[in-house]
Parts: sequence; C-alpha cells; structure tokens
Amino acid sequence: MDYHKLLEEAYKKIKPIEATKRFEIPKIEAHVEGNKTILTNLNQIASYIRRDINHLLKFLVKELATSGKIEGNRVILQRKINLSKINEKIQSYVKEFVLCRECGLPDTELIKQDRFMFVHCLACGAKHSVRAKI
Ligand SMILES: [Zn+2]
Repeated sequence: MDYHKLLEEAYKKIKPIEATKRFEIPKIEAHVEGNKTILTNLNQIASYIRRDINHLLKFLVKELATSGKIEGNRVILQRKINLSKINEKIQSYVKEFVLCRECGLPDTELIKQDRFMFVHCLACGAKHSVRAKI
C-alpha cells in the first residue's frame, strides 16, 4: 500500500467531528387575512429562544407599530406586515434580550429584580441589565 492509500485509510477511520449545535432562530410562519397578519409559530420561536411569548409579542407590536393578541397557538397582528420585517424584529429581540453580551451564547435567562431586568448567562455567568419596560 502506498503512502497516499494509507493516508486515505487513516482519514476514513477518523470520525467526523459533530458540528456544534447552531443557534438558528426559526423563521416566522405567517399569512395575511384581510388586513391582519396571523403568525402561526411565534410560540415555537418563543420556546426556542426560551422567552415568554407575551414579552416577545410586546416587543414586536411596539417595534412594528401595531397591536396584537394571542389566540390559542396563533398570534394576530392588526395590520398587514411584511414577513422579513417581522423576522428582522425577532432578531433584534434576540440580540437585546437573549444573547449574552460577554460570550454571545443564547443560553441565558431573563431575570426580573424589582424594577430591573437582567439577562443572565448560564454558559459564562455574566449578567447584564436590559430595559425592563418595552
Ligand atoms: Zn455568556
């Protein structure tokens, strides 16, 4: 067996390194009904980023200048809104209320203390304050 063959064999034996689980926020699923926008997976997104859907929704309606309500598994926004705009705002929410500012990981929890709110990182232990009032 020549050297290259040996090398090839050796490579085959090496197990592929398991890719680190990437944090990828699911894209919003929605459709328009009349002049309303119905979001059908906001609850899944909220549980993926481990945040209260009410908090996330409060942020979204403020940022999108609309009003909204939760109806079962659906969220109804009171005007037609472009999906990319909603995704963009979810990204901003994650940046502000989910990602750790120290290590950038999403393994965090939101803590409320008196009138203050903090993002506490479960990965590195860092804690930073965020606005308590959206
Ligand atoms: Zn961290």
